Amino acid sequence: MSQANQQITYDDNNIFAKMLNGDIPYHKVYEDDKTLAFMDIMPQAEGHVLVITKQKAIDLGDLEPEYAAAVLMTAKKIMQAQRQVFEREGIIQMQLNGAQSGQTVFHYHVHLIPSSIHELGRHAVTQADHEVLADTARKLAAVIAA
Ligand code: 5GP
Repeated sequence: MSQANQQITYDDNNIFAKMLNGDIPYHKVYEDDKTLAFMDIMPQAEGHVLVITKQKAIDLGDLEPEYAAAVLMTAKKIMQAQRQVFEREGIIQMQLNGAQSGQTVFHYHVHLIPSSIHELGRHAVTQADHEVLADTARKLAAVIAA
């Protein structure tokens, strides 16, 4: 466990753990043996995707090397698909470590956001339309599968 999280233990009931267990629905973009990618329900821009690890890690401090590599390779796939679907070069990769940084879900994940640092929307505030999320997930998944 990472230094700053010594008081925090991994919560098996966190929202992303529930998704991995199949207890909560989500708009899937991609999955492999070590990672899962899905649409962020409160996006900071259209096309905001989260990549989570299948390791029970709270943040970067806990991440094992093979999962770190797998998350980055999945992030790369997502970014390439976002570039194609949204016809833009600029994709933000963001990852928060600890409540002090603004982390709200304590299961390691990377944000991939088709936006600019100057235009980024507010973090985890406004729920998106599920039809739009589903449609974007389908488009991104199709590009990745092609
Ligand atoms: P963090 O603050 O931990 O870096 O990011 C957590 C992200 O999870 C936020 O961007 C938030 O919008 C997203 N989120 C929170 N609850 C849910 C949910 O139930 N489903 C999905 N798809 N995303 C969620």
